[in-house]
Amino acid sequence: MERIRVLIAGSGPAGYTAAIYAARANLSPVIYSGMELGGQLTTTTVVENFPGFPEGVDGTVLVDNMRRQAERLGTEIRTGTITSCDLSSRPFKLTVDGSVEVEADTLIIATGASAKYLGIPGEQEFRGSGVSACATCDGFFYRKQDVAVVGGGDTACEEAVYLAGMCNKVYMIIRRDQMRASKAMQEKVASRPNIEILWNSLPKEVVGDIKGVNGIKIEDKFSGESRVVPVTGVFLAVGHHPNSEVFAPWVNTDKEGYIQTLPDSPATNIPGVFAAGDVADVHYKQAITAAASGCRAAIEADRFLQGQ
Ligand code: NDP
Repeated sequence: MERIRVLIAGSGPAGYTAAIYAARANLSPVIYSGMELGGQLTTTTVVENFPGFPEGVDGTVLVDNMRRQAERLGTEIRTGTITSCDLSSRPFKLTVDGSVEVEADTLIIATGASAKYLGIPGEQEFRGSGVSACATCDGFFYRKQDVAVVGGGDTACEEAVYLAGMCNKVYMIIRRDQMRASKAMQEKVASRPNIEILWNSLPKEVVGDIKGVNGIKIEDKFSGESRVVPVTGVFLAVGHHPNSEVFAPWVNTDKEGYIQTLPDSPATNIPGVFAAGDVADVHYKQAITAAASGCRAAIEADRFLQGQ
């Protein structure tokens, strides 16, 4: 069976940065990219807060540059998802795409997080025909139409601003009387006259017919009154859940599934297994913090291997 010194699961900023450091330490890292090559950065537009890009940088370009840098330095990047693992002893045993088995001396889990859904009627039924969790992927199909964005975080604001550039009208459905988003993002929303914010509004149902979505039913949090907002697209931006399911039988996680690492360290409860990026980040969830934690994980993996 193939034995890998540093196996990295995930291909976002955490995974690629871990690979860059591991490759430069001559550890011949192998990345299994996961389902979404490049991770969440590929679903954003301009990234303005990653240092080194005074004019901002396209998220897909940024993460693709990281991939090229990791590859140039000697990382092998493979298409595939870790579908099960046995971390009870070293070398760790991992199964890729349900069939290929590999062994690894160290494992860096950088599998990120995925968009959450609401669990309301109509949501799954119209997924792909009116319900989306990625405006940059699907917004194009709703040009000159009216759409809704559910959520009041930075992602929701980013999606609303992006959609406002191509859609006729964008409703933001926010369950409280304030947004969680940063001031900068809120200001961008406020500068778009075709964004209307519906405060204290609880999403209850995505409604539609054979042709697709034609509205979203919302309920006023205080009066309980409900109404249907007429839209053809519903974009969900209600947060993310960590992609830790495969590893959760072995590594400690919190109740939300975030992998718990030792204080001030990327090490998990299993020696030789490290976690980096959004899968282990309850608080920050930024590209730059993911990259930094990938660096720490690779340095610790190197130290661990040297100590063996
Ligand atoms: P957040 O968790 O920050 O926001 C989720 C939003 O969805 C909140 O407004 C929340 O409401 C709302 N929500 C959650 N569940 C429901 C529900 N069942 N019904 C209605 N509304 C709901 O997630 P984001 O994806 O926006 O952001 C994640 C992280 O990524 C953050 O740290 C953010 O700063 C960062 N980010 C940064 C960007 C940037 O800097 N350019 C861009 C995008 C993300 P409530 O507030 O009431 O809980």
